[in-house]
Amino acid sequence: MPPAPKNDFAFTAERLYGSALENTFSGALSFMRRPYTRDLRGVDVAVTGVPLDTATTNRPGTRFGPRGIRAISTELAWGAPWPWGFDPFDRLAVVDYGDCHFDHGKPWEAPAAIEKHAREILDAGASMVTLGGDHYISLPLLRAHAARHGKLSLIHFDSHSDTWPQAEESAGRIDHGSMFHHAVNENLVDPAASAQVGIRTHNSERMGFNWLDAAWVLEHGAAATAAEIKRIVGANQAYLTFDIDCLDPAFAPGTGTPVTGGLSTALAQSIIRQLDGIGIVGMDMVEVSPPYDTAEITAMAAASIVLDYLCLRAKDLPERK
Ligand code: MN
Ligand code: MN
Repeated sequence: MPPAPKNDFAFTAERLYGSALENTFSGALSFMRRPYTRDLRGVDVAVTGVPLDTATTNRPGTRFGPRGIRAISTELAWGAPWPWGFDPFDRLAVVDYGDCHFDHGKPWEAPAAIEKHAREILDAGASMVTLGGDHYISLPLLRAHAARHGKLSLIHFDSHSDTWPQAEESAGRIDHGSMFHHAVNENLVDPAASAQVGIRTHNSERMGFNWLDAAWVLEHGAAATAAEIKRIVGANQAYLTFDIDCLDPAFAPGTGTPVTGGLSTALAQSIIRQLDGIGIVGMDMVEVSPPYDTAEITAMAAASIVLDYLCLRAKDLPERK
């Protein structure tokens, strides 16, 4: 028997729980070195990529988002994340499920392909963390989540509300600015019990969503913002969607439609860390565009925020390793 390998835990890990050290700068990529598998037996959370970037209005490149976030996550995968003080992977069985497949030459087929991919994961009993891709992917993801959980609250971090109306004759448009207009009309989310956080672009068509705009968040801080999100969501089940352009371009330059005047990475992380006590059934992290990134700042922010979400999910669970 050769000795157990000391690297490439993405495919050499022998169990779903626990973490193992390997060189951060090498090895097979998976999110946080989780096992790469499509076997979802016993899995709590499946991390998956949806590398669609043809719905953006400005810079493309988010098709490289899942790969970029996985790459930088290796630098985080060496111990208990600050300030949590525990390894979430001792408590939650998290795997990397790989990416959703669609034919880039048939973009009109992508929405159904994404929804089917999500339904396969949710039907297997796992919850999802999805790495985009541009923000359009949240619409088919919400369709799959609402089919399983019913109408959801939306916790939406973004500089844009993404509720721009679509004319009747444009119903099939695949655009990263109109998903939540459709989500309300399709009865997937309850806007009155939903919060849009960090908004700083005008949109006269708000579809009934509550706005915690960027100026309000910057003035009132993390604790007040988290408390307000929790008040709005109440006892509902919620879906968390994080458009990285919620962060200021100083903290997230690598994105499709940057807008100045946003949150710092630290402020966003602090808000996420305080969202305990509400039922979040899934999340996505979208709009990370590595070709426009500098020193992997944006991908690092994205990976770190996803890790905070996993720690939030894990914090009241017993160790199972
Ligand atoms: Mn967005
Ligand atoms: Mn945005």
